[in-house]
Amino acid sequence: MTTKKIIIIGGGIGGLCTAIALQNNGFDVTVYEKVKKLGEVGAGLTLWSNAIKVLRELGVADAVICAGSKVNSSQIRASNGAMLYDAHMGEMEAQYGEPVVAIHRAALHEILINALNPNTLKLGIGFIKFEQNEKDVTVYFDDGESDTADLLIGADGVHSAVRRQMFPEINLRYSGYTAWRGVVETENEAALGLTSESWGVGTRFGIVRVDKSRVYWFATSNQSAGEKSTGEQRKVKLLGLFKDWHDPIHYLLDATPADLILQNDIHDIPPFASWSTGQVTLLGDAAHPTTPNMGQGACMAVESAYVLSRSLKEQTDTRSALKRYESQRHVRTAWITNMSWTIGKGGQVSNPLLCRARNFLVKVTPKRAMQRNIHRAAGFDAIKVVS
Ligand SMILES: Cc1cc2nc3c(=O)[nH]c(=O)nc-3n(C[C@H](O)[C@H](O)[C@H](O)COP(=O)(O)OP(=O)(O)OC[C@H]3O[C@@H](n4cnc5c(N)ncnc54)[C@H](O)[C@@H]3O)c2cc1C
Repeated sequence: MTTKKIIIIGGGIGGLCTAIALQNNGFDVTVYEKVKKLGEVGAGLTLWSNAIKVLRELGVADAVICAGSKVNSSQIRASNGAMLYDAHMGEMEAQYGEPVVAIHRAALHEILINALNPNTLKLGIGFIKFEQNEKDVTVYFDDGESDTADLLIGADGVHSAVRRQMFPEINLRYSGYTAWRGVVETENEAALGLTSESWGVGTRFGIVRVDKSRVYWFATSNQSAGEKSTGEQRKVKLLGLFKDWHDPIHYLLDATPADLILQNDIHDIPPFASWSTGQVTLLGDAAHPTTPNMGQGACMAVESAYVLSRSLKEQTDTRSALKRYESQRHVRTAWITNMSWTIGKGGQVSNPLLCRARNFLVKVTPKRAMQRNIHRAAGFDAIKVVS
């Protein structure tokens, strides 16, 4: 059966990139997003060369590079600021033809939305369930309406309701740590000039500039999932957790508006066998959720968006196209999920002696060995590589 009309659930980075890629290939696409306004105001993210390469194919790379900030170096430090490892990220651009870019999420969303055909994105409409037969798939929404298409793509994130209906037996795996995120508008040169991730005992703090005047930070700490807190409570807790850490961590936390501090418990799902049933498939965090330790979750969604669209263009039969899409994405995304989980375990070690040993190991490991995984992740070319 040929695919013409496609419904995407979720207007996150994965859903929007998929819609752009599909429209570039001539498909009729509608994206349904449950929130009324997109773009997490308190967060940034890093897009590695592998994602920028695909964004260039989608026609938005220059806009993303212009709205963001190129990452030319990145350091791992101890909580007192001592340097453990210094990576020259500028090398990525020379080697892979595209830079590593940090960008505010709201800026990225705006660029992606502007690249869509008019009226593609329907905001404030939540997916409830789907029904499919041999011919098509009908989707039911929380406003009482429904829509029918040849293909449904669930790009509705780590807590995907589409995935839950398809595979109710698949459960999230809690990492054991929570993450907070914030963005600060600043003229502080020290804050604007630093790209680093610093490691404590069961805690980490990362800093990256996302444009001329804004710095994005994230923090993690080992704790049970499900903490309920106000912005003010989060700020007080973070100022305590990172009290004695190096500059400009205290400054950044202090300067962040409390109500804009985000908190997410970090989950993933160990790679699972299939992402599709009939004419329904999954993409991005719905299909391959990963912990954020390699900064590759959104990059994987961008790659998958391109590969799915290419498979649908090249294969006239929808089910064959979905099989091909999965076979071209499974190994790569499973490697990222597993590697990221392992890196997270190392980063969140909570035994002080083990932390000292870890920091020593990072300091003495040759740069080439430290960079092997970064290069394997960022050097990938989804446009050329097919498996
Ligand atoms: C702390 C942290 C830091 C990170 N840093 C990075 C980084 O630096 N680089 C990187 O590449 N990745 C990073 N990630 C991962 C990245 O955020 C995700 O992988 C990426 O956002 C996944 O995109 P997505 O579109 O699949 O899902 P989401 O971004 O989760 O989008 C899903 C969308 O679906 C919508 N939705 C959900 N349910 C429904 C429904 N029932 N009906 C309609 N719509 C629905 C949601 O509102 C949302 O807009 C980080 C993640 C975290 C938590």
